[in-house]
Amino acid sequence: MLELRPNCELCDVDLPPGSPDARICSYECTFCARCVETVLHDVCPNCGGGFVPRPIRPERAWREGTGLAHDPPGTKRRHTPYSADELAAFSARVRAER
Ligand SMILES: [Zn+2]
Ligand SMILES: [Zn+2]
Repeated sequence: MLELRPNCELCDVDLPPGSPDARICSYECTFCARCVETVLHDVCPNCGGGFVPRPIRPERAWREGTGLAHDPPGTKRRHTPYSADELAAFSARVRAER
């Protein structure tokens, strides 16, 4: 099951489960749309992959055993260990070879 992480790893803005601004890579690394567009340029700093909008998990259980009450969002906030310079260099390197 997809882990709905609570924040952008870079700017730390809250990204609640219903947020249309959450972006994820294939490893569930989670950033906000603004950081993906203006800083990361669609390169995940952890894996080099691209991003897609995170799907919204329904609040109510349309089917038994589903929905946010049954499968709540994650609570562990993550923060990228990379500096701005490192992020820019990595993104440029990956984009050059994509
Ligand atoms: Zn952000
Ligand atoms: Zn990633």
